[in-house]
Amino acid sequence: MALTHEASGLAQELAAVGADAVRRGLVLASGGNLSARLGEDRFLITGSGTWLDRLTPEDFAVVSHDGTVEAGSVRPSSEWKLHQRAYAARPDVTTVIHLHPQHAVLLATLDVEIRLLTLDHAFYVRSMGLTPFYPNGSDELADTAAAELAHHDCVVMRHHGCTVVGDSLEMTYRRALNLEDAAKATLIARQLGDTDTRFPEEHLPSLHHA
Ligand SMILES: [Zn+2]
Repeated sequence: MALTHEASGLAQELAAVGADAVRRGLVLASGGNLSARLGEDRFLITGSGTWLDRLTPEDFAVVSHDGTVEAGSVRPSSEWKLHQRAYAARPDVTTVIHLHPQHAVLLATLDVEIRLLTLDHAFYVRSMGLTPFYPNGSDELADTAAAELAHHDCVVMRHHGCTVVGDSLEMTYRRALNLEDAAKATLIARQLGDTDTRFPEEHLPSLHHA
């Protein structure tokens, strides 16, 4: 079954984010997957093995909460459970972005805390969860990531990638970009000998975007 007009429009928006994510090096080759909620119990997700900078609406599938493909002609990403559990854990969320950003994954894997240093890091990321390594596509990975996403908008999965959620595609992608930027900034700060500076906590409650 072909995608609806609404799903096709969302697919095009996700494709633009996918292309930008590859351009910025947030994912290599065919890693990562993107989804958008379509009502209460279904979502649109990139197909298995797709390259995020080559997406067209034909590369997406509509999947129900139990994994049934309801529209689209491709097999959904093997990470569909990660997206499904995220939507189930967070009824407020409309978008799930899963990428393999090099610096965030490296620091989390080495057990180095990713520090929020700038206004943008603090505003967009706020806080993040962490999971141990579980095989990609597994129930364990999906369940542990979703448990973290109940409390955070970002989770870094060690040795693998990050999963970021939000109430719009724009917000979710900005969040993912700032998570990776915080990891890069943390790495540079450590190279400069700094191990404990972070955004002043007392200003967190009053943050708003200009
Ligand atoms: Zn992945």
